[in-house]
Amino acid sequence: MKVRFGPAGNPESFYQEGHKSSLDMPDWLREKGLNAYEYQCGRGVKIGEEMAVKLGQKARENGIFLSIHGPYYINLATLEIEGQEKSMNYLLDSVRAAQWMGAEVVVFHPGSGKGIRSEAIERAKILLKKVIATINEQGIKGIYLAPETMGKKSLLGSLDEILDFCAIDEMIIPCIDFGHLHAINGGALNSVLDFSGVLDRIEEKLGSRGIGRLHMHFSPIEFTAAGEKRHRKTSENSFGPDFSFLAPLLLERAIEFTLICESDGVQAEDALVYKKIYTDLQKADDIR
Ligand SMILES: [Zn+2]
Repeated sequence: MKVRFGPAGNPESFYQEGHKSSLDMPDWLREKGLNAYEYQCGRGVKIGEEMAVKLGQKARENGIFLSIHGPYYINLATLEIEGQEKSMNYLLDSVRAAQWMGAEVVVFHPGSGKGIRSEAIERAKILLKKVIATINEQGIKGIYLAPETMGKKSLLGSLDEILDFCAIDEMIIPCIDFGHLHAINGGALNSVLDFSGVLDRIEEKLGSRGIGRLHMHFSPIEFTAAGEKRHRKTSENSFGPDFSFLAPLLLERAIEFTLICESDGVQAEDALVYKKIYTDLQKADDIR
């Protein structure tokens, strides 16, 4: 069973130790005991082919599973034709970069919907279908598009909306951001039962495909009535959600997963905190 833990982007400690290039990340992560890395293209897909191929080679040498986070300004629900073209291209650029590096998962934010929500969702679905058609036309294989559950009510990406997108095609898998799910529902994930409700919902809608290779984001989060405010750290223990509620379920249900940690500046350190919670529990289970 494959389980993976790693950071979203490069943590502060990586730079403090004198590193400058993301090419050093795979080696650095393996030394820390991590095995996943979500490469950030939030501000645009700027990575060139040469660099992406090198990063992919280094990741494979070090046993690091790669994913990519696409540009934040993707908005699949926009009414503007130009914006639609751009959003499709941002997503396709991310897919191309993923191919260069051998990354399997491309995470993206679906966008925001002005006007009637259900119509915005329909517009996003139409565009997503076009993107999938293009990927198929280009003969690209082995890539998963992963729309992310979002932390603000103004954004598309409730759990059900994301699962709905996933029903379009097997190429689409959910990126479950548990911090966002916690925040958007006013701090809703406070027990094993709360987390099992989320896993049950995924399984109910997508079957084993949804839960078979779970891509998730996890980090403590500060929120207001409108939802997400900012990502926090596990050392600031007043902020949920708590991974200790999810870890036993992942073990019990033998779920293969990739956990990408987005804690503020300490995303690698907190990924290790989560890994320890999981492996300690695993050891305790083995003894029993
Ligand atoms: Zn995201």
